[in-house]
Amino acid sequence: MSAEETIYGTPVVNGLAYGPVAWVSRFEIPKLPATKIPLDDREAEAEHYTQAAQTVSERLLARSKETIGSASDVLAAQAELSRDPGFKKMVVNAINKGIPATNAVITTTEMFCTMFEKAGGLMAERTTDLNDLCLRVVAELLGEPEPGLPHLTEPSVLFADDLAPADTAGLNPAEILALVTEQGGPTSHTSIIARQLGIPCIVAARKLHQISQGEQVFVDASLGTITTGANPDLVHPKIAADLLTREAIRNWSGPAQLASGEDVELLANVQDGPGAHKAAARYAQGVGLFRTELCFLDSTQEPTTEQQREIYSQVLSAFPDKKVVTRTLDAGSDKPISWATLDEEPNPALGVRGLRTTGIDQELFTRQLDAIAQAAHNHQGKNWVMVPMVSTLSEAKWVAKLIRDRGLTAGIMVEVPAVAIMIDQFLAEVDFVSIGTNDLTQYVMAADRMNANLATYTDSWQPAVLTLISRVAAAGVRLHKPVGVCGEAAADPILACVLVGMGVTSLSMASSAIPGVGAQLEQVTKEQCENAAQAILTAEDSGDARAKARRALGIDL
Ligand code: PEP
Ligand code: MG
Repeated sequence: MSAEETIYGTPVVNGLAYGPVAWVSRFEIPKLPATKIPLDDREAEAEHYTQAAQTVSERLLARSKETIGSASDVLAAQAELSRDPGFKKMVVNAINKGIPATNAVITTTEMFCTMFEKAGGLMAERTTDLNDLCLRVVAELLGEPEPGLPHLTEPSVLFADDLAPADTAGLNPAEILALVTEQGGPTSHTSIIARQLGIPCIVAARKLHQISQGEQVFVDASLGTITTGANPDLVHPKIAADLLTREAIRNWSGPAQLASGEDVELLANVQDGPGAHKAAARYAQGVGLFRTELCFLDSTQEPTTEQQREIYSQVLSAFPDKKVVTRTLDAGSDKPISWATLDEEPNPALGVRGLRTTGIDQELFTRQLDAIAQAAHNHQGKNWVMVPMVSTLSEAKWVAKLIRDRGLTAGIMVEVPAVAIMIDQFLAEVDFVSIGTNDLTQYVMAADRMNANLATYTDSWQPAVLTLISRVAAAGVRLHKPVGVCGEAAADPILACVLVGMGVTSLSMASSAIPGVGAQLEQVTKEQCENAAQAILTAEDSGDARAKARRALGIDL
């Protein structure tokens, strides 16, 4: 690419970066001819293999020394594996029978993988490492560049089709300015790692291969743009401003307030007691979504009411006098629980999940409400309970009564479009609602949230999704009922401003996202948020919605 050209992807972690591209090189083992090595050449072929294995091992060891923590251990273990005497013996035996070194490495890897898989457990997990090693040694034997992460000589923008788990172990945030992948989605392995490391990240950038190794690129991971040929004089001030923003995030200490002085309630999404205590230390003002089903993914039978009460109490104790919104079991679909869900369904996301599992065992639901009520008994803060996947008014009425009968505040999630469409009637039945933007987006856009190929659709910035959210928020304002947001949308600092402008009363997110959202809210006034909420209503697509929101918020494009 020459001059200034921009390609687009789906933003995952905000931030700007400018630097040279380093591609994670792809290497696929070519079809190898089944030649036989003449007797006289076999010793040299064995030596060729020994050298290649040695080189690969040395590179891995060197990288392990440059890395710290568990990533270093992973690389050192892989280097060790590449020197395994049993493996070497089998390869050399095969070469001595006339099999070329490349083929010998491949067949030996296959045999070792079968052995590891039979052993199961941790051994079985090592097959990924073995296959990765096989690729590295074969590439070395064929004189190809080392597959996987390149050795960086300067901070770079890492490009990849998608990152393999083995690649992510060696990622050093100090060397990587941003991560961009052609495939993957907001929930892919790359996205999870980028969030953990706090590296600006864009996924699903479909035309990424138009940009070559070494080209200078400007990445704006809040807009999802990758630009080549950008003018460095214009880019550098933006990068400097972004560094200041990141600094402000590091120093943010809550509580959240807009530049015009209004408070914004920032809550945490948690799944257990330790997570809730961590959230309290990260300035969460309470819990906006306690995903109770995640406590039970590994259990083989329903925990007793006492056991449940104990687990729920641990979360409540992190916020003794604050609000905690406990969500009843959202089992099913991507979160199957053996004792609560059906074994097999043709279409699980549209199947028996969330409240719908009460069709299998209604008392499971009431037993959980009893446990929540018992835990709430000793809690001085607000005890709110909400129900996932409610779809009809009769369900809303039914659950609200059961929750209120136990002295708790009753709410439902807005995830099924039916609820958003008839929000006034639903709000009349309950004390509050919380919008689950992950599922609402999935169902509005008819796009499986787990499908990495559908990242463009499973984007909460889609105008149809935002329009529906805006109507729900407006109904809350009109009817004086709290409307929270607890899906991933709340964790996007710019979208958070839009949601506040729509009239959303609380934002709940992974606790690691709270400082980023809090620091952004501090920069904008209520009026700017309201203007952004208006502006997105005329957007044509998600990119346009992002651009319109930023303009209304006075954020540089
Ligand atoms: C959601 O759907 O947005 C939500 C918060 O629920 P979960 O992600 O647990 O399905
Ligand atoms: Mg959901």
